[in-house]
Amino acid sequence: MKTKIALLLVVALLAALGWTFVKRPLAVPDGEAPSLPPVATVAGVTFSVIRSADIASRAGFTVRGASLLEPTTTAVAAFVVEHPRGRFLIDAGTAQDIEAHLAETPLLSRVLSETTVRQPTVDALAQRGLAPGDITGIILTHSHWDHTSGLADLRGVPVWMTPEELAFARTDDMGVVFRQIEAAGPIELRELSFPDGAYGPFEASWDVFDDGSVVVVPMPGHTPGSVGVFLTDGSGKRALLIGDTAWAREGVEWPAEKPWLARRIADHDAAQVRAQLVMLHRLQRANPELVIVPVHDPRVLDGVAAL
Ligand SMILES: [Zn+2]
Repeated sequence: MKTKIALLLVVALLAALGWTFVKRPLAVPDGEAPSLPPVATVAGVTFSVIRSADIASRAGFTVRGASLLEPTTTAVAAFVVEHPRGRFLIDAGTAQDIEAHLAETPLLSRVLSETTVRQPTVDALAQRGLAPGDITGIILTHSHWDHTSGLADLRGVPVWMTPEELAFARTDDMGVVFRQIEAAGPIELRELSFPDGAYGPFEASWDVFDDGSVVVVPMPGHTPGSVGVFLTDGSGKRALLIGDTAWAREGVEWPAEKPWLARRIADHDAAQVRAQLVMLHRLQRANPELVIVPVHDPRVLDGVAAL
């Protein structure tokens, strides 16, 4: 009898776990479509992608409703923004000693995925003829290891983070790699704030060069101080990097959140992430020319490189 009850319990738990992977698109309310400011075209602005590493897993782990059988690649990337008045990185990609950082990541995510290093960020920059001293600054979408690892090789370059994100990085379990890098040597921290008023549906912004080409907006949810970055290149193509608000483009397209297990491991405030995804879905629908970039989705990154 006891065995039967235990068996039933296991079956029920597995069924409950299975349910968390079933497709359940988020409800999208009607209402006024969010519009964006006119595109600001600044000659000489370009952006490109450094693909630092690839993490192999299953599509179903990245977005609720995708197949658990379908293999998928999660890219670890840094973005290079060239502007006549400065050269920024958005996120830092991976360090040369990525193994030291991988060892600190949650065991479950290591068991469920496999990481292949393509090119540490500092090496990719060197290949372009750039030393860390040639980088004006680094803006972090957030502080998780796969966005900060490369900082270990970029000492001396100013790093912009919101105060909420810095507090999180210095205390949360998911900030352990950031703390490891900080313990090994100083990080040139700069406070990221939003002095420039609303930008489309975002209530505040930081217009980095005061010309509309690089605009940072708050996007809390995945972490308390996550940010999004609007990038408009010299031809007038506008992209929005959304950090890890979604890991795959379907997160915005359907829209759908990460499955429960991934939310438990990675998302700080699941309800806030859901609200961001619905807002991004509506923003995309109202602005079809905007390229929304979940920074880990290689299918979207390939398109950014071609912009
Ligand atoms: Zn990430």
